[in-house]
Amino acid sequence: MDDAIIIGGSFAGLTAAMHLVRARRRVTLVDTGQPRNRYAAAAHNVLGFDGVPPLDIRRAGLANVLAYPTARHVAAEAVGIGGVRDDFVVRLAGGESLVGRRIILAYGVADQLPAIPGFAECWGKTVIHCPYCHGYEVAGGRLGLLYSSPASLHATVLLRDWTDTLTLFTNGLDLPDGVEARIKARGNGVLEGRVAAFLHEAGRLRAVRMESGREVGLDAMLAHPRVLPSARLHEDLGAETLEAPLGPYLKVDDEGQTTVPGVFAAGDLAGPRHSINGAMHGGMIAGVGCHRSLLDWS
Ligand SMILES: Cc1cc2nc3c(=O)[nH]c(=O)nc-3n(C[C@H](O)[C@H](O)[C@H](O)COP(=O)(O)OP(=O)(O)OC[C@H]3O[C@@H](n4cnc5c(N)ncnc54)[C@H](O)[C@@H]3O)c2cc1C
Repeated sequence: MDDAIIIGGSFAGLTAAMHLVRARRRVTLVDTGQPRNRYAAAAHNVLGFDGVPPLDIRRAGLANVLAYPTARHVAAEAVGIGGVRDDFVVRLAGGESLVGRRIILAYGVADQLPAIPGFAECWGKTVIHCPYCHGYEVAGGRLGLLYSSPASLHATVLLRDWTDTLTLFTNGLDLPDGVEARIKARGNGVLEGRVAAFLHEAGRLRAVRMESGREVGLDAMLAHPRVLPSARLHEDLGAETLEAPLGPYLKVDDEGQTTVPGVFAAGDLAGPRHSINGAMHGGMIAGVGCHRSLLDWS
């Protein structure tokens, strides 16, 4: 039996695994190898790996973990979980089952991209979710902000460090009272109406077409699609979730433990603020928390 089964072997899951295998615990990582940022050519803000493709960082991290003799990697999808602390069973898509004393959920979130033609092709390239991650590469250009909720509005101030030419696209939604005037007073544009298409060459945005037929030249767009957990295994276990403006996430305590004893969670799945560094921090908390829970403190 494994000491821990970690579901999701990316930034959070690998960091949790590293802490456990260095404590000489037996760990199985179950992973489908699809980190959320795989659409971006390069990841940023990760010391030592700035500008490196996300899958290369993951590959290096996996090699680090698998260098320890108590680590095992299973390239498979986990489709079910049952059991209780000290006796969990994880079912894999191929029909195999794994048993473990603890579970760490690190399967991340999936972006619910709007069905606007061209959006998906530009995602991670010139349609970006975070200026700290990908704003530098499009700085100085004509930027757009696709409004999805009042949570988008802080970016009308934030993006001033990346552009002097910002347009907020309401995309058919109503802005809160007084907001349009404030945005315009800061020198930004506001365009009402729905966006019909993102016009691009191989993901490089050149304009958006509005439903009215008008085309607006643009080099990049900041968008905040809603996110959902990448799997529903936490529902099998009855783990409690909290709601953030962009979607639900698992409630965890200071040790990274969910509301289900023996089940830990980390990364994008376990908080409202999403980044590689944050996922690795959460992985450390959950890995150490999980390890401490395996010890007899009496
Ligand atoms: C386009 C884009 C670009 C980004 N760029 C950056 C950036 O430059 N810098 C930055 O700091 N952040 C960036 N982010 C955010 C970053 O990608 C996430 O914060 C980070 O990937 C979260 O790590 P994680 O380990 O929690 O989840 P993920 O990296 O998403 O990994 C989840 C893992 O779980 C696996 N998995 C899912 N379901 C199952 C299952 N049922 N069974 C087995 N395995 C499963 C997946 O295949 C994947 O390997 C970006 C996000 C996006 C969308």
